Amino acid sequence: MIYLDANSTTPILPEVLEQMMRWMVDGYANPNGVHRAAREARAAIEQARAQVAGMIGAEADEIVFTSGGTEGANTVLRSLDGMAGHGPCVTSAIEHSCVLRSLEGLGRESKQVGVDRNGVLDLSAYELALEGSEWVAVMAANNETGVIQPLAEVSRMAKERGKWVYSDAVQAAGRVVLDVKELGCDFLSLSAHKFHGPKGVGAIYIRRGMPLKPLLYGGGQERGYRSGTENTAAIVGMGVAAEMATRYLADGRARELEQMRDAFEQTIQAGLTGVVINGKGGARLANTSHVSFEGCDAAGLLILMDEMGVACSAGSACMTGKQKPSHVQMAMGIPEGMAKSSLRFSLSRLNTMDEVVDAAGLVIRAVEKLRRVQGVGVGPVVVYSP
Ligand code: PLP
Repeated sequence: MIYLDANSTTPILPEVLEQMMRWMVDGYANPNGVHRAAREARAAIEQARAQVAGMIGAEADEIVFTSGGTEGANTVLRSLDGMAGHGPCVTSAIEHSCVLRSLEGLGRESKQVGVDRNGVLDLSAYELALEGSEWVAVMAANNETGVIQPLAEVSRMAKERGKWVYSDAVQAAGRVVLDVKELGCDFLSLSAHKFHGPKGVGAIYIRRGMPLKPLLYGGGQERGYRSGTENTAAIVGMGVAAEMATRYLADGRARELEQMRDAFEQTIQAGLTGVVINGKGGARLANTSHVSFEGCDAAGLLILMDEMGVACSAGSACMTGKQKPSHVQMAMGIPEGMAKSSLRFSLSRLNTMDEVVDAAGLVIRAVEKLRRVQGVGVGPVVVYSP
């Protein structure tokens, strides 16, 4: 299988797994105890905290471990909702469902600011939306298109008006250098499984001095911000993955991903007509390619790709199986027909150039085959034979 679905999740690196095994098998002591084994587990967690902080330019005491990106978003948004007055929250129209559904669940009015054709937040509309609003939730990079949002600018404009800023940085962390001091936001959420760590563990960055109301109450772990016995192995895994991602980015290795992604797109564009690379005009994560194939139903294409041994996804993983253009594509103004003909290919640092070029060749074959069966402009075909 050629795995090109890294925005959905990434494989655990062997170095991460090795460390996790140690803490799963031998390091089982509850880190809140007083005996030696407990103190060792505590020390491992604190090391992981420093590693995660290092990835985003934060201090260790600004990091709280959670169960992942969804919990991070829900915790911060619920807390901000409690702190703010009754005004609306400013968010973007392209947020992940964990932000959009969380805001809906709070019943708070939110102003969803649109994006341009490249998927970049409309800063003029954002500036207007800030008036009379209480706080801001804008993601750092989009999960479907990989388009990087102007977060430093978003924070600057919000801070000038005294608003709090939260960013879902789940897709950006480990893929692009993030420095919370430069970004200027108050809260950030991260998830380990997007940067070769384990699933079910994440972190919230809380700028020093900012209050955060917990989502979970209990034993008061994580300085009271997140009760529940810490999953030492998962947290250690996140720490190792964070440190490796930091090194990878510092060594300029994201360039390799960009070269692979560009070769993938160039091969497809050279081999096919009627192809649009969405978000190409904006700054994108080096690993993400969101492509519309005119005259191809995405669901059918996805099945063909799977049969050919390429794992990718239609729009975002959460939208797979639904014959509805994603809210992200609609916000970008991608015509419905093209939106329903789009696949997301997302690379990780474990992919090779050979794999990626092979995958592009298979995409060309699959699209040609589907276009022959379907005919450009004909409605979706439900069943495809190999
Ligand atoms: N935010 C974004 C942008 C994501 O892409 C995802 C996962 O797809 C999440 C949040 C949710 O993270 P988790 O799977 O750790 O709950």
